[in-house]
Amino acid sequence: MEHPENDAKYVGLRVNAGVKSNPTVNPYRKVVKKKRILTAGEYVEGILKGDVSLLGRAVTLIESTAEDHQSIAQEVIEKCLPYSGNSRRIGITGVPGAGKSTSIDVFGTHVIRQGHKLAVLAIDPSSERTRGSILGDKTRMEKLSLEKDAFIRPSPSGGSLGGVARKTRETIVLCEAAGYDRIFVETVGVGQSETAVHSMVDFFLLIQLAGTGDELQGIKRGIMEMADGIAINKCDGDNVDRCKLAAQQFRTALMLFPPTPSKWVPEVVTYSGYYELDIDKVWDMIDRYFKYVEETGYFERKRNEQARYWMTETIEEQLRSRFYHTPGLKELLEQKELRVLNNEQSSFTAAKDVLDYYFEYIRK
Ligand code: GDP
Repeated sequence: MEHPENDAKYVGLRVNAGVKSNPTVNPYRKVVKKKRILTAGEYVEGILKGDVSLLGRAVTLIESTAEDHQSIAQEVIEKCLPYSGNSRRIGITGVPGAGKSTSIDVFGTHVIRQGHKLAVLAIDPSSERTRGSILGDKTRMEKLSLEKDAFIRPSPSGGSLGGVARKTRETIVLCEAAGYDRIFVETVGVGQSETAVHSMVDFFLLIQLAGTGDELQGIKRGIMEMADGIAINKCDGDNVDRCKLAAQQFRTALMLFPPTPSKWVPEVVTYSGYYELDIDKVWDMIDRYFKYVEETGYFERKRNEQARYWMTETIEEQLRSRFYHTPGLKELLEQKELRVLNNEQSSFTAAKDVLDYYFEYIRK
C-alpha cells in the first residue's frame, strides 16, 4: 500500500516556518581585547618602576601552567633576582579563626605607617577546592586593601603544595624587585604548608588563642618548634587574664623545646588585633629578632640555606613533572599497575620498565 506521506495532499508532518527569536547576545557589547603578553624586558622594566598592574600580570604568568607563559615568567624572575632580597619576609600562621586576617590588616597598616611597602601573599593548597581562596582575599583585609603601598595577592591555586609554594616564593622575588620591603606570607596552621612557608621566610609568627582549654589547640608540636614568636590574639575584654595565663603556659612549654638553630629564644606576647591593642609589642618582638639575626649573621646563613633548598626542590619538581608528562607514560603506568595488582609482575621490575621507557624517551 502506498504510504500516506508520499501523497502530495498529506499534511501530517508539515514544518511551519519558525518565529525568529531575538539575539541572545547583546550586539552592542564591547569586545574586550585580550591583553597582549609583553616581552620579559617590558615586564621587568615595569616591575622595577613599581608598576603594580604589570607586577600583577607577571605574577599571573608565574601562576600559569602554559609553557610559553612559564618561559617568560622564568626570564622575568631571573632578571629581577639581582634586585630582590632586600626585604623582611614574615610568615604568619594560626588555625582558622585565630584572627589572621584581622591581624594582618592591622599589622600591615602598622608597617605601612612606618614608611614601608608591603606585599601580602598566601599559601593555601586547598584554595582550588574552596574556589577563590580562603586566604589572601582582599575583602578580608579592608583597611589594607585601600592602601596604595600594599600589594595583596591570594594564594596560587591548583597543583601540589610544592608547586603552590614555588610560585609564592617566585612571587616574593618580583615583589621585592618592585620595591616591597616587607613581605607577609600567610598560611593556615593545620597542615604541611607551614613547612613550605617556613622555608621562605625570615621570621615565623604563630598566632594563638587563649582560653580554649587545651593550650596547644591542635597546633602540631612541629609548628610550635618552627615559630620564632608566638602572639596570643584577642587579649581584650574579659579575656585578658586568660591570655596572660596562656602566655605563661606557652613560655613554659617553649622552654622544653630544643634550642633553635639561630639560638634565638622564641618570645610570647599578647595583643588584640580587633581592638588594635599592643600591636607595637608584636612588632617590637619582630624588630628584636631581626636585629639579633643580623648581628649574629644567621639572617644571611638562613637565606643561603633556603636558596639551596629551593634549588633542590625545583630540580625535584621539574624532574617529576617531566617524567609524568612523557608521552605514553600514563598508559604504560596504568598497564603496569594492573600487572602488579594481578601478581603478574613485581613492583620493582614494573618500576624499572617504566623508568627504562622514560630514559629511552629522553635519549631520543
Ligand atoms: P582567620 O580565620 O585566622 O583569618 O581569623 P579572622 O581574622 O577572620 O578572625 C576570626 C574572628 O575573630 C572574627 O570574627 C574576628 O572579628 C574575631 N577577632 C579577630 N581578632 C580579634 C581580637 O583581637 N579580639 C576579638 N575579640 N575578636 C577578634
